[in-house]
Amino acid sequence: MTRKKQFKYNILNKCLYNGYHVLCFEVIPINQTTLYNLEPIDLGKGSVESLSSYSLRLAEAHSLTAGKLVGRKVAVVLNKAYLIKSEKEGGSRFYEVAYEINGLGSLAKNWAQALVVLTGRKRLEELTLIRFNEWLPDRGLLRSHLAWCPACLEEWKEGNKEVYEPLLWNFKVVTNCMIHQTQLETECPNCLKTIQILSRKRRIGYCSRCGAWLGRLELHKEITSGEHLKWQLFVIQNVQELLATSSRIIVELSNAHITAAIKDMVNCFGSKRAFSKEMGIPETTVRAWLDGKHRPSLESLLKICYSSDLRLVDLVSGKYEGVKYSSRIISSDKGQIRATRRHFESQHILNMLLGYLNNKSLSMREVARRLGFDQRVLYNHFPDVCKAIAHEHRLWIQKMRKIRIDASCKLVREATISLLDQGIYPSRRKVESILPSAISLREKMLQKTWKETLFEFHY
Ligand SMILES: [Zn+2]
Ligand SMILES: [Zn+2]
Repeated sequence: MTRKKQFKYNILNKCLYNGYHVLCFEVIPINQTTLYNLEPIDLGKGSVESLSSYSLRLAEAHSLTAGKLVGRKVAVVLNKAYLIKSEKEGGSRFYEVAYEINGLGSLAKNWAQALVVLTGRKRLEELTLIRFNEWLPDRGLLRSHLAWCPACLEEWKEGNKEVYEPLLWNFKVVTNCMIHQTQLETECPNCLKTIQILSRKRRIGYCSRCGAWLGRLELHKEITSGEHLKWQLFVIQNVQELLATSSRIIVELSNAHITAAIKDMVNCFGSKRAFSKEMGIPETTVRAWLDGKHRPSLESLLKICYSSDLRLVDLVSGKYEGVKYSSRIISSDKGQIRATRRHFESQHILNMLLGYLNNKSLSMREVARRLGFDQRVLYNHFPDVCKAIAHEHRLWIQKMRKIRIDASCKLVREATISLLDQGIYPSRRKVESILPSAISLREKMLQKTWKETLFEFHY
C-alpha cells in the first residue's frame, strides 16, 4: 500500500470506527491533525460539559490558544478556508456565532465530528443538543454569551478539580445554579462586559476581554425569590434529565407525542383559550402548535410540565397520562414572578429604592431582583431614582476595580522582586504560582507591572 493510500485507509478506519462517514472531510495525514484523546467531563450525565468547553480544554491541553486550535486543527478537518484565514488575519465573525457549536444545527454536528476525527474520542455529539433536533426548536434556546456560576468555578479550582463549563449553563431558561442557589452571572465582574462562549484567546474560567478570573465564593444568595427558585429547581432537574437520556430513549422522543399531549390537555381544559390562559401562553401560539406551524419552545414545554406536574422526558416520549394540573405560578421569561400577580405598593417601593440608593454595591438588576419586580417596571415608575442607583453602582464598581488593581499590582511587584532576591528568574508562570489564585498576569495592568519590574531590574 502506498503512503497516500495508507493515510486514507487510516482515516477511513478511524472514522468508521467512530461511526461517522468521511464525506465532508479532507483526507489529511493523521500525524498532522491528531489531538489528545481528552475525556469529556460527565458524559452521559445531566452535568455534561459543553462542546465549546471541551474545545477550550483541548486547546489548553496542547498549550494552544483557542484561535490556533480552531484555525490550525478544526478548520483544516472541516475544510473551512474562512476559519483558517480568520486565525491568520483576525476577524471575529465566526466567534460571534460560535455558541451554536453547542446547539442543534449543522455547525454543532460538523464541529463534533471534526473533534471525533482529531481526538479519536467517541460520543462527542452528546456535548451538544444535536440529538434533540427532531422536536426541539432552536428559537430562544441557547445564550449567545457565557453564563457561569462563580462559586462552582471557585470550588473546582480550589479543590483542584477540572474547571469546565456545563452544557446546562448555555440554556437561556436556566438562570440559577441549584448547588449554590444563586443567579448565574453573565457579565465579567471586573470589566462588566459579556463574554463570548468561544473566542480566540478565551480560557476556561477567565474573561476573554480583561483576563480576570470569574470564580468567587461570596455571593448574594438572597437575591432570588423562593418561588423563582422552585421554578428553577424544576427547570434544572428536567433539563438535566433530558441531557442524561440515553440514546435508547432518544428515539422515543418526538414532536408527535408533544402535539398529542397538548391536544389532550386542551380538551381537558375545554378550549384553547382556557388552556392558554392557565398556562400563560398566547392563544395564537397554542393554535400554531396544534396546526403544526410551530413547535413549542423548551421554555413553553417546561411551563406546561411545571403546571401539570409532568416530567419533560415523559411528555416528549409519550408517557403522558392525562392532566394533573397543579395551578403553580409560572415564572415569566426573565425569571421574575409576574409583577401583575403582586400588588404594586408605590410609596413602599419608592422608600425601598431610596434605601438601596445608599447601598452602592448593588446594581439595579440586583435591586429589582430583591424587590421581586422586573427592572423595566421599576424604571417605568421611578426613572430618576433607578437611574441614580445605576449611576452610583457604576461609580462604585470603577472605584472597587481601581482598589483591586492597585493592590494586585503591588503584590505582582513584590512577588517578582522576591523571586529575584532568591535568584529565581521571575517567569510569568513562577510569579503567578506564588500569587493568590484570583490574580492572573493575563490582566493587562498586572502584566504591565510585571514587565516594568523586570525592566527596572534589567531583565
Ligand atoms: Zn454553583
Ligand atoms: Zn472582563
